[in-house]
Amino acid sequence: MAIKKLFVRCPVCNKQKHIDFDNSIILNSGKSLIPIEIPKKLICEDAFMVYVDKNCVVRDCVSFDFTVELPDMEVTDNQQSSLLEIDSDKIRLNLYPTLVAQILRCMFNKARFIVIFNTPILNRLYERFFRLLSEDSFSIDITFMQSRKFKLQKNELKDRIILYRGKILNDNKKIFRYPLNFEELLAKNFFLESNAKTSSIMLKNEVLKAYLLSSTIVDFILKSNIYRLTSVSVDELIYKEHGIHLDFKYIRFLNMIINNYFISRLRNKKVKISNYFSDFL
Ligand SMILES: [Zn+2]
Repeated sequence: MAIKKLFVRCPVCNKQKHIDFDNSIILNSGKSLIPIEIPKKLICEDAFMVYVDKNCVVRDCVSFDFTVELPDMEVTDNQQSSLLEIDSDKIRLNLYPTLVAQILRCMFNKARFIVIFNTPILNRLYERFFRLLSEDSFSIDITFMQSRKFKLQKNELKDRIILYRGKILNDNKKIFRYPLNFEELLAKNFFLESNAKTSSIMLKNEVLKAYLLSSTIVDFILKSNIYRLTSVSVDELIYKEHGIHLDFKYIRFLNMIINNYFISRLRNKKVKISNYFSDFL
């Protein structure tokens, strides 16, 4: 057993501290990134998750407070997907939860975006992974690019969102103005699942569910011409169509997809999903 020092920063309040850490956890784990739960009062008043790599370097800190019930819904069996041919451990070894969450946010908002990542051999693999992840649902406009190449093409790429070392540049439509709660939860589950193949299929299924459920709402809006809805009426609609109830926090997430991903289908009219019963009357 060897005690190492970890330098940890809270993603909620930014408080920083060194903590002692028994590195045998890392040596005994088959995983590439090891999640460590930081309980409340260890560093600050927040509980969060730290991801450490094999060299005991903190790769990511993700807030832990957000929970939402994911839709309990059967989706197409993805066991035949080409996604299974991709070694998800390679993905999980080099990417980290916050970046995966940011990529999902771009995808759910139909943003064209570039991830600057200096791993030329792996960049094509990452692109393929995210395309297969969304092959039956969202269309994704993603490019992984080396910084050297990006600098040369910078002027032609002004309309793209740039994800670079945790920073978000060129977010002209402000799709990152809301917290990444939901996307972080999906990314967290992806990194926590011990079976690499299962982790990909799980993530793909969540992406597909989000697409199917938001499409159902969009179809209803277009058919009925009602652009103002309540969480209750959305829940009723989904129950009628899919036989499940939705967490109201999940409905807020669908609202983002509807108003950004599907905005052109909605003839550029914004949809309002309010939390009050009265709005529906
Ligand atoms: Zn804190």
